[in-house]
Amino acid sequence: MAHKYVYTFGAGKAEGNKDMKLLLGGKGANLAEMSNLGIPVPPGFTISTEVCHIYDENKGQFPKEVEEQVLAGVHHIEEIMGAKFGDAENPLLVSVRSGAPASMPGMMDTVLNLGLNDETVLGIIKKSNNERFGWDSYRRFVQMYGDVVMGLKPESKEEEDPFEVIIEKVKKEKGVELDTELDAEDLKRLVKLFKEEIKKRTGKDFPTDPWDQLWGAIRAVFGSWNNPRAITYRKLNNIPSNWGTAVNVQAMVFGNMGDDCATGVAFTRDPATGEKIFYGEYLVNAQGEDVVAGIRTPQPLNKTTKTDPDQTTLEEIMPEAYKQLEEIRDKLEAHYKDMQDIEFTIQNGRLWMLQTRAGKRTAEAAVRIAVDMVEEGLIDKETAVMRVEPEQLDQLLHPTFDPKAEKKVIAKGLPASPGAATGRIVFHADDAEEWAEKGEKVILVRIETSPEDIGGMNVAQGILTARGGMTSHAAVVARGMGKCCVAGCSALEIDYKKKTMTVDGAVYKEGDWISLDGSKGEVIEGKVPTVEPKLSGNFGKLMSWADEIRKLKIRTNADTPHDSEVARNFGAEGIGLCRTEHMFFEGDRIKAVREMILAEDEAGRRKALEKLLPYQRDDFYGIFKVMHDLPVTVRTLDPPLHEFLPHDEASQKEMAEEMGISVEEVKAKVEALAEFNPMLGHRGCRLGITYPEITEMQARAIIEAACQLTKEGIKVFPEIMIPLIGTKAELEHQKKVVVETAEKVMEEMGVKVDYLVGTMIEIPRAALTADRVAEAADFFSFGTNDLTQMTFGYSRDDAGKFLKEYEEKGILPDDPFQTLDQEGVGQLVEMGVKKGRSTRPDLKVGICGEHGGDPRSIDFCHRVGLDYVSCSPYRVPIARLAAAQAELRNRKK
Ligand code: ADP
Ligand code: MG
Ligand code: MG
Repeated sequence: MAHKYVYTFGAGKAEGNKDMKLLLGGKGANLAEMSNLGIPVPPGFTISTEVCHIYDENKGQFPKEVEEQVLAGVHHIEEIMGAKFGDAENPLLVSVRSGAPASMPGMMDTVLNLGLNDETVLGIIKKSNNERFGWDSYRRFVQMYGDVVMGLKPESKEEEDPFEVIIEKVKKEKGVELDTELDAEDLKRLVKLFKEEIKKRTGKDFPTDPWDQLWGAIRAVFGSWNNPRAITYRKLNNIPSNWGTAVNVQAMVFGNMGDDCATGVAFTRDPATGEKIFYGEYLVNAQGEDVVAGIRTPQPLNKTTKTDPDQTTLEEIMPEAYKQLEEIRDKLEAHYKDMQDIEFTIQNGRLWMLQTRAGKRTAEAAVRIAVDMVEEGLIDKETAVMRVEPEQLDQLLHPTFDPKAEKKVIAKGLPASPGAATGRIVFHADDAEEWAEKGEKVILVRIETSPEDIGGMNVAQGILTARGGMTSHAAVVARGMGKCCVAGCSALEIDYKKKTMTVDGAVYKEGDWISLDGSKGEVIEGKVPTVEPKLSGNFGKLMSWADEIRKLKIRTNADTPHDSEVARNFGAEGIGLCRTEHMFFEGDRIKAVREMILAEDEAGRRKALEKLLPYQRDDFYGIFKVMHDLPVTVRTLDPPLHEFLPHDEASQKEMAEEMGISVEEVKAKVEALAEFNPMLGHRGCRLGITYPEITEMQARAIIEAACQLTKEGIKVFPEIMIPLIGTKAELEHQKKVVVETAEKVMEEMGVKVDYLVGTMIEIPRAALTADRVAEAADFFSFGTNDLTQMTFGYSRDDAGKFLKEYEEKGILPDDPFQTLDQEGVGQLVEMGVKKGRSTRPDLKVGICGEHGGDPRSIDFCHRVGLDYVSCSPYRVPIARLAAAQAELRNRKK
């Protein structure tokens, strides 16, 4: 039997189902599933993603089987619809729709009303008894086909859509404003003008044979898999480029046949808040993307979601169809057990479903929907925990505008995606990218956005549009990105050429600061201060479920009592890395540090260190107190000493004055400490070995603080960590200093505290000899920043110059400083854990590099059996959720 490339659906059954997304794409698989569920779906067929690869390899030639199966697919539609493709009397019209395995909103273009030509249009007019509808459908078809298949779509932002220019011209000649004011004759003229324009620009005639039209469209969809927009989107969303897209060919149903017709999009729950209300928008007498294109203002579906008494809801004007839509909503949720994003069309009062998929949602909505669905008995806690993207929680954890701050609200739009953003106005996506590259915070301001703008939207703090509803491109994409967005702010007059935005006579230029409140839809002049977020009860519930599931402990990297407290409130179970060098810079201390560095001998250094001791002790006292009952890992001094000296002339002068020495002396010291490669220089334990008195002072400060708190009845668990060792002997040397000092302090203070001495594993040699190192260590903490640096041989501070290009050229899949390189660096981690535990089975092992807060790296840490990950305070909840997901993901296998 020939290989099956084409899968049909319609009339209550289908050859595919929802689990065939890789083969049929998300759209095709779900159209099949809905057919199987008995939901009204216009009949059609899906050409599988396998054909996308064949198309790619054969440059647009299809094997004979594909041609035959497409032909059979069209017959299948003809039979159900009782119409014939290309027939002059009773023509069948179809849409050609792309659909990849992962949702790629707006990435690839759909062609509607395919099958129309000068003959069939007459058949359609006769059948519908509606001349205007016939010509409107035809002009839409020529326009879409011209754009998508024949390549007339504008390439640059300044260029206008040639078809829109023609429409404007015809409207102006007629003296009307709206598309709806054009009559059949006008539309007929448009068809003619459009075709002439196509001929003029491409030298080709518009195809009149419906079969040529169909194959042209199929080719265009397969070809669009590799257009730059699709490639950008895939890169941003980690979608493999070898998946390919499927093509759906489906009988047309018409929402533009008259006032008993409509088209719309909806979410089965509110995608912004997660509330269980049916949320959507529709337009009467409209087709396809009219709702999201922002040409007319769509209306709300029902009375519950009405925001203005003048709005006309579907519930009120088409109660029958609305009721049926609500039933389908319930059916879909009960079946998919998740919030769905649906597209529908009503033709002469009859409802048709055109798409369903899991709806994109804000973090707030994701958490609420997951928790609500558990409480409704739809899903279990494990499923709920898997439903929320850990990275997405970031949106909930970051500050919002201070409600008490003075705000000058200059305009209001739709609260399309929540959050608070402050930045400088830019009007073009590429400008946004350019400015962001330079470190500027920008707000992307557009009349409306399109898929071309993805790159700019991604780097902007927030997005503001003048047109479009809650389901416009800007709104959907922003919510997916977790980015603040205010949409449809019609008070804005945007001039792309002059780069200005005018509101009520006030002019805002490119570069001016504005702020957006995506939860309220407010556009605010200037910068607005922000406040810490408050977390909902739902968030707490979801987190508690994650905590029940996860095996990894979550610690935080914190150097101050304040950060420690933030992290503790976010659920941190200890400090995995407390850097002591930051404490050396504060206030007067830097003076004592410099004194130590300038000292000629040990006696001089000890004198200076004596001054530092009380400061350090107070620091540790504060942190230990906040972290009572939990472990705190303190790392001894790590950076090279030159970092504590000024390098510019003016500051050197200042330092000389302050210390009562000559500038020459300062300069001489700076020079003496200069290194060719400080990252590999005199730092880490190497400092403590040449100047044991530094380690001694730090150990004393730690243990004194711990003893003091123990006396006060507060439980503390200090863990002293030696950085940058490459040999066991280095660790042993430093450990001896620490232990001797600790014993002395405890004797002096007359109390005992439990403390540990361990080490960072961040030099490849330490990982390679971890069995020996472990003999001297109570714990290991993988410093994966340095470990990555040294394993790759990349200087982290210089890698920015080439890493981006490496990613773009596919030489590295990710930035290895953000996501742990499991293949290489990961081997050292895995080996370090195994070898370490081979000589010390109870060895505690954690990670404290940036990777400790990265969900994919956390999954790896779980698999290699780490005890904990440590990350920045704001990432603690993300890590808690990611750790639970790692457990569930790996439990299943
Ligand atoms: P996207 O992937 O960008 O969402 P779709 O393939 O879903 O594109 O098509 C966009 C819109 O075109 C749909 O939401 C629907 O309104 C309209 N459409 C597509 N196919 C049909 C059809 N067979 N009949 C009526 N409308 C259709
Ligand atoms: Mg769609
Ligand atoms: Mg390090």
